[in-house]
Amino acid sequence: MIVVIVGGDAAGMSAASQIRRQKPEYRVIVLEKSENVSYGACGMPYNLADNSRDTDDLKVISPENFINKRGIDLRLNHEVVSVTTESVTVKTPDNQYEQPYDKLLIASGARASRPDIENIEGENTWFLHTLGDAEKIKEDLRQNTISGVAIIGGGYTGIEMAESLTALGKSVTLVKRSKKLFPFLPEMMNQRIEDELKRNGVKLEFGKTPVRINRTGKRISIVFEDKTETDADRILVVSGVEPAAEAFISSGIKPGIANSIQTDEFLETSFKNVYAAGDCSDAFCAVTGEKIYEPLALKANRYGKVAAANMMGNPTKAPPVSGASAVRIFSLELAVTGIVKRSSSMTDKMEIVSNMVTVNSRAHAFPGGGKMDVHLLCEKDSGLLLGGAICGPFRESALRIDALTSVIMMKGSIWDLYNMDYIYTPPLGPVWSPLLVAAGDMIKKLK
Ligand SMILES: Cc1cc2nc3c(=O)[nH]c(=O)nc-3n(C[C@H](O)[C@H](O)[C@H](O)COP(=O)(O)OP(=O)(O)OC[C@H]3O[C@@H](n4cnc5c(N)ncnc54)[C@H](O)[C@@H]3O)c2cc1C
Repeated sequence: MIVVIVGGDAAGMSAASQIRRQKPEYRVIVLEKSENVSYGACGMPYNLADNSRDTDDLKVISPENFINKRGIDLRLNHEVVSVTTESVTVKTPDNQYEQPYDKLLIASGARASRPDIENIEGENTWFLHTLGDAEKIKEDLRQNTISGVAIIGGGYTGIEMAESLTALGKSVTLVKRSKKLFPFLPEMMNQRIEDELKRNGVKLEFGKTPVRINRTGKRISIVFEDKTETDADRILVVSGVEPAAEAFISSGIKPGIANSIQTDEFLETSFKNVYAAGDCSDAFCAVTGEKIYEPLALKANRYGKVAAANMMGNPTKAPPVSGASAVRIFSLELAVTGIVKRSSSMTDKMEIVSNMVTVNSRAHAFPGGGKMDVHLLCEKDSGLLLGGAICGPFRESALRIDALTSVIMMKGSIWDLYNMDYIYTPPLGPVWSPLLVAAGDMIKKLK
């Protein structure tokens, strides 16, 4: 049995390792277009903040380890450019060849979006998606005097990089097209996060559309639609990701939402014996059951294992995803889960009630802590929990979202949440957990 895997990071290497462990008789070939495999992309913004650490620290398992210890036929600098139902076409620096397969996994991930801004590619512009990108930024930061960085994109990576560059003493401007940082969050929560960024010296240029990058000598600036400009030494573009799926879709594999690869519950694509997992493919939403595109690390690792089980002949359904995610913003944390940021044909038909409470993160008798905002959404008639967001002090807030995610994924209602038996001890929280207070307040609103 020849199993071919395209892409050697979270989804691809999870699958490859699982198959080699459980079916040592299978031949597992991993085709990776870059020179790197298995690294922690999520740690890149924090690695960049620390001059004493090398980007090599982000590498989890080396190519040699995969080849020599796990017996995986790993081929670096091998890019798959097309696929048929029997083989893939592989381009290397020296040649091109056909690689036949019995089972194929596409785990090609995502790539950084290139926003439609004139002159965006060029000197003194950084992107941050791959380890190669992080290496370039680190080298630039080490070699050159960089005082100011303008970041285009106020998503999680933009915020993380604002924090990291501030820690390095750079002056940071965060640029965003929308007027609010997270337009889907309650106004108060947004304001709190924006205030935290400003309090730490980050300049916010929101509600402004970049149209062009000007480069004159060493000077680089973003020109906005309203003709104003923001100067910087470097511009970092982190305005989202898109699935790296064209080569497969143009070969005839059916596309899914957001130009990702469409898969069924077993992660099989429209080509028989061809599976897809991770940031290149879609998933089912745990709340609505509809297809969504959710490029997150746990899904990639988990779906890699699910695809492996299916390729080994053990039918395994991929669990749906809740979309739970979190980010630190200096001394604050934000976490969201379920339906907070997307409307769908299903939720459009529902009457949705939302509510936010602000409570103390710790018991009254215990010093420290801070205010925690808990925002919940549920369906009016059934009380079905749909989603929520939590914003509060660092190390005290975001992890609470996991409890909410559990209730949502079990199709629980606001009453189920209210009746949960959560922990209490003064240093860790009040006797009525912030989630229980939020549920109780929402129940009053439903009456
Ligand atoms: C800066 C940053 C911070 C992040 N932080 C978080 C976080 O805090 N939490 C979280 O859940 N997620 C986070 N993520 C997202 C997370 O890293 C991804 O969800 C995860 O890496 C996806 O894994 P993957 O294997 O699907 O794809 P990738 O990690 O993108 O790997 C795909 C691999 O396929 C290779 N490839 C692509 N096309 C081809 C081809 N045609 N032929 C051969 N090889 C190919 C690529 O070179 C790549 O090595 C972050 C991502 C970034 C960039």
